[in-house]
Amino acid sequence: MPRSYPLERYRDIGIIAHIDAGKTTVTERVLFYTGISHKIGEVHDGQAIMDWMEQERERGITITSAATTCFWVPTKEKESDKPLELVKKEHEYRINIIDTPGHIDFTAEVQRSLRVLDGAVVVFDGVAGVEPQSETVWRQADKFKVPRICFINKLDRTGASFEKSFNSIIEKLSPNAIAVQIPIGEEDNLSGVIDLLEMKALRFEGDFGQIIKKEEIPEDLISLAKKWRDKMIEKIVAEDEHILERYLKGDEIKESDLREVLRKAVLDYRLIPVFCGSALKNKGIQLVLDAVCYYLPAPNDLPPVTGTDLKTGQIIERKPDDSDSFSALAFKVATDPYVGALTYFRVYSGSLKSGSYVLNSVTGEKERIGRILRMHAAEREELKEVFVGDIAATVGLKNTQTGNTLCDEEKPVILEKIEFPEPVISVRIEPKSKADQEKMGFSLKKLSEEDPTFKIKTDLETGETIISGMGELHLEIIVDRIKREFKVDALVGRPQVAYKETVKEKSEAEGKYVRQSGGRGQYGHVCLKLEPKERGQGFEFVDEIKGGIIPKEFIPAIQKGIKEAMDKGILAGYPMVDLKSILYHGSFHEVDSSENAFKIAGAMAFQEAAKKAKPVILEPIMKFEVIVPSEFFGDVIGDLSARRGRIEETKDRLNLKVIDAKVPLSEVFGYTTTLRSLTEGRGNFTMEFDHYEEVPSNIAQQIIEGKRK
Ligand code: GDP
Repeated sequence: MPRSYPLERYRDIGIIAHIDAGKTTVTERVLFYTGISHKIGEVHDGQAIMDWMEQERERGITITSAATTCFWVPTKEKESDKPLELVKKEHEYRINIIDTPGHIDFTAEVQRSLRVLDGAVVVFDGVAGVEPQSETVWRQADKFKVPRICFINKLDRTGASFEKSFNSIIEKLSPNAIAVQIPIGEEDNLSGVIDLLEMKALRFEGDFGQIIKKEEIPEDLISLAKKWRDKMIEKIVAEDEHILERYLKGDEIKESDLREVLRKAVLDYRLIPVFCGSALKNKGIQLVLDAVCYYLPAPNDLPPVTGTDLKTGQIIERKPDDSDSFSALAFKVATDPYVGALTYFRVYSGSLKSGSYVLNSVTGEKERIGRILRMHAAEREELKEVFVGDIAATVGLKNTQTGNTLCDEEKPVILEKIEFPEPVISVRIEPKSKADQEKMGFSLKKLSEEDPTFKIKTDLETGETIISGMGELHLEIIVDRIKREFKVDALVGRPQVAYKETVKEKSEAEGKYVRQSGGRGQYGHVCLKLEPKERGQGFEFVDEIKGGIIPKEFIPAIQKGIKEAMDKGILAGYPMVDLKSILYHGSFHEVDSSENAFKIAGAMAFQEAAKKAKPVILEPIMKFEVIVPSEFFGDVIGDLSARRGRIEETKDRLNLKVIDAKVPLSEVFGYTTTLRSLTEGRGNFTMEFDHYEEVPSNIAQQIIEGKRK
């Protein structure tokens, strides 16, 4: 069965924003306008829209689904005289909206959704402009090379300014932003937008702004619009030699040519068009949808994905082509305590039928694809087959986690792995009763499958369960979910920092494990060198044994012994990282040597060497941005310094102070409360993990003693 929509008219996008910028409202409007255009087609009948809205409300619009599919015909095409069905056939786009979380504590969530989308609409608050979290999300989108367009929302609010917000995008995010619209009026007077490409004024009438009226630009705005248009055109024509030449000769450049050059520049990450309006007041959203169709990429506009061929180990490409072998990435596992696991995936190549089998190339397990579902605003559609660019969910996969590749068994491939940061904070969690114990185990397992930065561990000494994540808030939300969604009653301990250990100097040591106790003895003898590595470089094992001084079959056991010793740590029981151990000498015994003896000898040699190599404790350092009204600046800076914080930069933003700092995680538990009381509730901050760093020796001593107790 072939696909029903041409791939060129697929858009897999995300709407990303700082919390409160209006992402939910924008999404709601998008689903509303696409809903009407899809279902009713005729958008001028107010009563029909009302009825439709009522129905949708009764059924409960699900706008928080991990992915939602909707359809859109660009406004310009709707103006055509052709019958609607024909226009749809030729110009309707399928827009798959992938949900992206707003809070940066959930790095994994942001990353996994950014990984699978092809383009994004970034929403800003027209009063606040670029906010700290928008910067973080923006940098993430840069990292994943997501082409994007911007929407400056809330221009109806008191204090809103298009120009200021636009400038803050240019200053803080990218000099390549380019205004392609300006608002008609602002604050209470916002009444529409001017399209600088077409040089027309657009107003949104009807109860829901569903009727778009195109008019001449009002007299008093003509010169302003011309000024903005000139700036825009200069940036666009600079992107294309031929057009530039024509422009310099004084030719008028056609709108369609400008659009085409702009599209290419957006796909190339060279320009970022900026739109504006107000979601709440129903102004401008349809034009953002048009822009999604015009400027954001179809799956086959982007380079093919690459992955590792499991048979050859080589890096290969998978083409965005239905006839290539099937490959897809699972990007979200949503757990519903009643329905079970819904695995959301995006197809990168080939196609997949329900009822067939796929290989999870990360776990090596075969999984049966039962039902395949596509989520629309208000209903689920059951699909027989999915194709390149499709975003769908399947029910009942047993062992597939976020980030896993699903692929054709015959052509196994692992698509670029999503790298998630290691958790930096942990808490003990204890079920209140025996019945809770089981439920807790189940719910924690489910949640860790959903979220790769959330980990569960059992303390081998006490038998307690320890959960870890990316920040206090991250763990708080998880605990809240197991209590509310899974009805587990549990007690939670105080948060603990995930320290690590490493060595600072080179060293050498010998480990000899020899036992002679009747029967067969034990013999393992290992000489090791240790060397420190840079932060974040991990562990490296080098085998320099020559001439079979230690037989090959024992080498993996030695490595295992070292690894186990590293996990136990040397100073305070924290796992050791960032070091190289070189196995350079040793000996063996014909009869008595065994894997186990070498494993023990390896661990002994490592511990000896680590003791001599100046071991230290490492702690996670968080990157902080604190925003406070100027009058609290001194107090907040003083407090941060007292917490061993390093102030890196302070900036002025209107009458606010912005403080960039690096602060050890151990010093900032409960910082939300502290900042609130320091600033009468007016301060704001964001933090994310930055790097690991050596703990000062007096504090290291406290940590070591604390552990002994
Ligand atoms: P999210 O946190 O980014 O999803 O933001 P929401 O969509 O929930 O919006 C946050 C608040 O801003 C809500 O109270 C909205 O009603 C309001 N809001 C959203 N869009 C606009 C807008 O265009 N104008 C005004 N004045 N308020 C808006």
